[in-house]
Amino acid sequence: MPDNCIFCQIVAEQAPAHRVIEDDLAVAFCDIFPIATGHTLVIPRQHAANVFEIDEEPMRATAALARRVSHALRDALAPDGLAVYQANGAAAGQTVWHYHVHLIPRNDGEPLAFHGRTRADDAELAAMAKRIAGHLPG
Ligand code: 5GP
Ligand code: ZN
Repeated sequence: MPDNCIFCQIVAEQAPAHRVIEDDLAVAFCDIFPIATGHTLVIPRQHAANVFEIDEEPMRATAALARRVSHALRDALAPDGLAVYQANGAAAGQTVWHYHVHLIPRNDGEPLAFHGRTRADDAELAAMAKRIAGHLPG
């Protein structure tokens, strides 16, 4: 794994993250600069910078876990909608070079944004991760 990849460090539990759920191939955790309450990232365990590098199997696994977490977010937070966003390259807004899918609960009238400016409170993220996980089938 690249030494300086923060998401590889999260996968390896060398960096902290508020995990929602994980399986053999992918991990879901709360975004630390959330655009909206419940903003969750889903990543493959295996490092790949973006859609141009990732293999099919980890991409499928990431999509499948994102689907499960999407249902849990809807059940937990009842947003008006849910944006699924995935950036490839700086021009598309990518800032972390390990493939990731954003799950962003959306509500009517809220302005669209791609990046949050405020680091979330850890206790709040921990509570949110638990709340979403509570809506996943065991
Ligand atoms: P991108 O801009 O590449 O599409 O998304 C990167 C996302 O990762 C951003 O929403 C940013 O807030 C989030 N992020 C960056 N560093 C960390 C981190 O150390 N922990 C967590 N949980 N999220 C991070
Ligand atoms: Zn990585």
